[in-house]
Amino acid sequence: MRTDILPLCDKHYRTMEACIAPFSADYSIEFFRCTEKFCQRCFGERLGYVTPQRGTPPVFSSDQPRCDSHNRPMFICNLDRQHNLVKYACPEPSCTDTGTLPVGSGIQVRP
Ligand SMILES: [Zn+2]
Ligand SMILES: [Zn+2]
Repeated sequence: MRTDILPLCDKHYRTMEACIAPFSADYSIEFFRCTEKFCQRCFGERLGYVTPQRGTPPVFSSDQPRCDSHNRPMFICNLDRQHNLVKYACPEPSCTDTGTLPVGSGIQVRP
């Protein structure tokens, strides 16, 4: 996962913070978590945006954009409020692929 850009939450467009989740004794996963108080949204470089729930497997977003070169879930790196566009970047450190999507239906942007 690259460290030069932090992902934004796909619900709040807040900067997410890096976390380490201990998965087992010798394996842990690195992911990012929304800083909004009650938001459970996470971004992991293998899963993309998920809302983890105890005891159930993560649900993938079907509209999650992927990098063509790496087939990785891309994360939101910028929100253009003026044009209502969301910019996506690939989590691979050297990848320059980006994607742009209109702010989708169901995703509410708070003023
Ligand atoms: Zn959030
Ligand atoms: Zn890539």
